[in-house]
Amino acid sequence: MTAPTNIATGLARIGSFIRAEQWRDSDVSGLTPTQAQILIHLAQRGPARVTAVAEEIAVTQPTASDSVAALVRKGLIEKRPDPDDARAVSLHPTRKGKRAADALTLWPDALLAAADTLAPEEQAAFLKGLTKMIRTLQSDGAIPVQRMCATCSFFRPNVHADPAKPHHCAFVDAAFGDASLRLYCGDHVEADTEEGDRNWRRFTSHASAE
Ligand code: SF4
Repeated sequence: MTAPTNIATGLARIGSFIRAEQWRDSDVSGLTPTQAQILIHLAQRGPARVTAVAEEIAVTQPTASDSVAALVRKGLIEKRPDPDDARAVSLHPTRKGKRAADALTLWPDALLAAADTLAPEEQAAFLKGLTKMIRTLQSDGAIPVQRMCATCSFFRPNVHADPAKPHHCAFVDAAFGDASLRLYCGDHVEADTEEGDRNWRRFTSHASAE
C-alpha cells in the first residue's frame, strides 16, 4: 500500500469509529447523528440559518432541512425571523434544546484520549497535515470552506523567528505554533483569493520571518 492509501485507510477507520459511537449515542438521546450535530452547533455557536448550518456540518441542504424539521417537532429548536433579512429565518435552540445539547458530546472520549497520547510534536505535525489535506479538498471543491486558520484573513503564517510559534493571529494579536492551528474557529473571516493564496504559499514553504 502507498502512503496516501495507508492514510486514507487510517482516516476511514477513525471515521467508522466516530459514526459507530454517534449511532450508539443516538439510542440514548433519540437524535440521529446529524440532528445531534445541528443541535450542538446551534447551542455552542449561536443562531444560524439552515444554509449556514448545512455548510458548517458538511451536509446537503435537504439533509439539514429534514433534521431541522425533526428538531423543531421535538421542541429542541425553533425558527425565528432573521434580524438581517425579513424573508429569512434563523434557527435557535430552545431551553429544552440547550439542556439536551449539554448532555451530548461532539467527539467520543476514547478518540480524544487517543489524540492526547500523541507527543506535542506529533500533534503539531498531525494538525499541519490535516490542515493541508482539508485545504486541498476545499480547493478542489470537494468540501465547503472550513473556518480554519489556513483560510483566515487574520492568519499570518511563518512570520516569527521562533520555530515553536512561527505563526501569528492578527485577531487576538498573538503568536502560535502548528499545534494550535485551528480547524474550526468562531472568529474566522475568510481571506480573499489573493491573500489566501499568498498565505498558503507562505504556510507551506516553511519560510522564516522576514
Ligand atoms: S481568528 Fe481564528 S482562524 Fe483566524 S487566524 Fe486567528 S485563530 Fe486562526
